[in-house]
Amino acid sequence: MFKFGQDIGIDLGTATILVYIKNKGVVLKEPSVVAIDTNTGKVLKVGKEAQNMIGRTPGNIVAIRPLRDGVISDYDTTEKMIRYFLRKVCKNRFFKPRVMICIPSQATEVEERAVTDAALQAGAGKTYIIEEPLAAAIGAGIDISKPYGHMIVDIGGGTADVAVISLGEIVVSNSIKVAGDKFDEAIVRYIRKKHNMMIGDRTAEELKIEIGCVYPRPMTLSMEVKGRCLVSGLPKVITITSEEMLEALEECASQIVEAVHATLEKTPPELVGDISTGGILLTGGGSLIYGLDQLLSSKTGLDVNIADDAVLCVAKGTGMSLNYMDSMKNSSRRK
Ligand code: ADP
Ligand code: MG
Repeated sequence: MFKFGQDIGIDLGTATILVYIKNKGVVLKEPSVVAIDTNTGKVLKVGKEAQNMIGRTPGNIVAIRPLRDGVISDYDTTEKMIRYFLRKVCKNRFFKPRVMICIPSQATEVEERAVTDAALQAGAGKTYIIEEPLAAAIGAGIDISKPYGHMIVDIGGGTADVAVISLGEIVVSNSIKVAGDKFDEAIVRYIRKKHNMMIGDRTAEELKIEIGCVYPRPMTLSMEVKGRCLVSGLPKVITITSEEMLEALEECASQIVEAVHATLEKTPPELVGDISTGGILLTGGGSLIYGLDQLLSSKTGLDVNIADDAVLCVAKGTGMSLNYMDSMKNSSRRK
């Protein structure tokens, strides 16, 4: 039987890379981390295994997140990472896949080029780029082709992206570098200041996911954390509560609220009307922080919903958009 090449969608996130294959769904989800031997420049580990090395590497090994702040700070490594993941999912070298890639919103055209080149080198037949808010909306099941306004807020590791979409295009958008990573950093700072204790990024992320909140929880939660006492220099264990998390994360959360406000102010009135009916849709892992939906809703007076499978939306939408590829050729290109 005649067999076509696969259709593949890649969500090149600042924290997570996801690969979606048509008819199979999301087949790969790994941290965007690469471990490199600085003496030889050789890639040692990619994804989960590399992430486990963060903060635990000897001198000659570095674990990098090449997309960390929403820009591709390290082309070479990004290329190697894409190649590694594509080869992992693409067993059939004979039929070259069509690959749709979603890159961080703040990436430049040069960076976009580096990414598509890497995919071509890794064996893609043809590559396309889609803007993240469009992919997120498609993945969340919204029909973006209608003349109707939708507001999507995607919060990842590096950036929070706010966009209003209508007729398959982005009408207004805003991107700030305050998202999951900044939450982690805020927790590290808070604990250093308040408890004179140094904790690692991974511990901060754990705290954020387990007991973190940006809106009061109905019941106070607490968690034990280990770190280093800044006074004695020795290991120390303390208990942190969710109320402290609220305090630690307040500033970051209000910056996200502010970005949503600013975007609403720039949105044409008809579309604001649509959004007041349909509400705001949240996607991305960062949007899972407890209470962000309630906070946004209380500050804007709008309905706020977290998309089903919020972490997978962009990857799904990226893959699904391959179906509309021909009709989207113009509108999906970054401008
Ligand atoms: P990106 O698209 O930038 O790769 P993701 O959408 O994968 O990012 O989101 C990654 C961020 O989401 C990380 O900062 C991670 O800590 C955060 N995150 C994931 N799950 C949760 C959760 N349950 N609560 C709070 N934050 C979460
Ligand atoms: Mg993302």
